[in-house]
Amino acid sequence: MKQICVVGVGYVGLVTGACFADLGNRVIALDVNEERIENLKKGIMPIYEPGLEELVDRNVKAGRLSFTTSYREAVAGTEFAFIAVGTPSGVNGEADLQYVAAAASSIAENMTDPLIIINKSTVPVGTGDWVADIVKRALPKPVDFWVVSCPEFLREGSAIGDFMNPHRTVLGSLHPEAAEKVAQLHLPLRAPIVITDLRTAEMIKYASNAFLATKISFINEVADICEALGADVKEVAAGMGYDKRIGPMFLDAGLGWGGSCFPKDVQALAYMAQEKGLEPKILNDVMDVNYGRRKDAVAHLEAMTGGLKGKTIGLLGLAFKPNTDDMRDAPSIDIAQALTAAGAKVHAYDPVAMDVARPILPAVEMFGDPYSMSDGCDALMIITEWNEFKQLDWLKVKELLKSPVIFDGRNIYDPVMMKEMGFRYHGMGRGFSDQ
Ligand code: NAD
Repeated sequence: MKQICVVGVGYVGLVTGACFADLGNRVIALDVNEERIENLKKGIMPIYEPGLEELVDRNVKAGRLSFTTSYREAVAGTEFAFIAVGTPSGVNGEADLQYVAAAASSIAENMTDPLIIINKSTVPVGTGDWVADIVKRALPKPVDFWVVSCPEFLREGSAIGDFMNPHRTVLGSLHPEAAEKVAQLHLPLRAPIVITDLRTAEMIKYASNAFLATKISFINEVADICEALGADVKEVAAGMGYDKRIGPMFLDAGLGWGGSCFPKDVQALAYMAQEKGLEPKILNDVMDVNYGRRKDAVAHLEAMTGGLKGKTIGLLGLAFKPNTDDMRDAPSIDIAQALTAAGAKVHAYDPVAMDVARPILPAVEMFGDPYSMSDGCDALMIITEWNEFKQLDWLKVKELLKSPVIFDGRNIYDPVMMKEMGFRYHGMGRGFSDQ
């Protein structure tokens, strides 16, 4: 049993803390958000993540997981301190490191024993050295410490499974013995462990996210070409994905990526390149293609409905992806705002994200189920591919709609079947779907 503290109890920190506790360690999870910690002590989760509530509950009851707002309580006697605070985009696209700096200083101010500080937040290359400087300056008296980078690759919606079964663990440090100790902590996960230097580990995270975002933007560009030439991007992607050099994942054409990671990480990598006088041509195009999807979707719907002014448009899904309530940079935000700006009234339904979405989209009327949401709509747009949308009673939906128009931004339906049911259906990159 190791003593671990996790600083920042968000999507990454809470999952990290709960999973390390489940692996038999003693974890104290700390956040500066008092309400969040009070709620966690009562068993109320700050985020929606499948399986998380049960995992937290089990480990709290077993005495392996506890929550605090006190750095003194969290840091005292601990061997490992994980930093998992947010690193949102700054005004110019750079990563905003104010929370990492605050966490590093607070850890240092409360350190009494030697400590390995492990950075899980996604941070620009060079941040590990900078964190070491902050800690050194904030230490009240000299205590040994080592900084290790351990970027996180989990995906919201499948975070626990991803944490427990990673494809690899990446560790970077200038101190191999510290990286080795952190490697020991990860051994139960039975994944390959890549030990490298700090800067390389930090870069591996950005390069991985940028590559995945590129894959999606690539297939989205192919989708447009498919649409123009009468090919079906879904089948093209399936045919490509069998090639082991390509692989089937991240080849789903549609409205593109959003969320808390790809948008800010691609932008931050481009910013790092520009800072060094490089022109990140591919990264810039990857972002342009992605954000173009949202505009193109609204333009296409406008054409399908013969103008959006005065129309009512229903959105199925709001979260940036299924199985999460995360609305950060969700395509639904740009789309709903563009629809409203074009004079449409917007209805929406999402199984879990509506509470988070309400303050972000005050002009959107939210409904308790997909059917009441569809009532009186001139068209529906599929924004998030929640499983529960895959088997809707389409004949009932058709009865409720003013006109049977569907824009499927996630390509979850069979165009032939939708047409046979009497819908005017458009899938993104499915060249035959408008014919
Ligand atoms: P989040 O916004 O959900 O959580 C961050 C938490 O840190 C919040 O609860 C906040 O109150 C807390 N915090 C801020 N300053 C603090 C401080 N000084 N001391 C203690 N707590 C503090 O963020 P997240 O989505 O969990 O992301 C955390 C990091 O992990 C980011 O760098 C992100 O890029 C990276 N990451 C996220 C994901 C993901 O899917 N969300 C995946 C991989 C990596």
